[in-house]
Amino acid sequence: MYEINDDGCWIFKGSKTKSGYAQCHSYNLHSKHSEVVVGAYKLSLYLKIRENSSHDLHLTPLSLYGDVHHSCKIRDCINPDHLIEISENLHGVMHNLGNLRIANSVLDELIDHYPHLEAEVNLLRDKL
Ligand SMILES: [Zn+2]
Ligand SMILES: [Zn+2]
Repeated sequence: MYEINDDGCWIFKGSKTKSGYAQCHSYNLHSKHSEVVVGAYKLSLYLKIRENSSHDLHLTPLSLYGDVHHSCKIRDCINPDHLIEISENLHGVMHNLGNLRIANSVLDELIDHYPHLEAEVNLLRDKL
């Protein structure tokens, strides 16, 4: 279902969205007989989180944070270690950042405005 490249990316071989993201079918947790199309990378991250037995199975990365970012910038990568759970707002900001210096100053500003997001923002800073 995937090939591992030199950067450790797991390149998904199945179907992709128009914008190049890996996708696959999954059972809908909330309705027995329906299937949904989900990002394969979201499923991959979800399965990794599930290995932690204390995790509530109905909480997906999507329901927890809203979005998933590829730290390797490879859209069809599904290696859970390259995926970061992130809120949609911060994700939008990250994709509009040109370089590390600007990124850091924007993140500082974010913490000023949203002190309750400090832990999440600093986690991101480590992965920039
Ligand atoms: Zn990757
Ligand atoms: Zn992203």
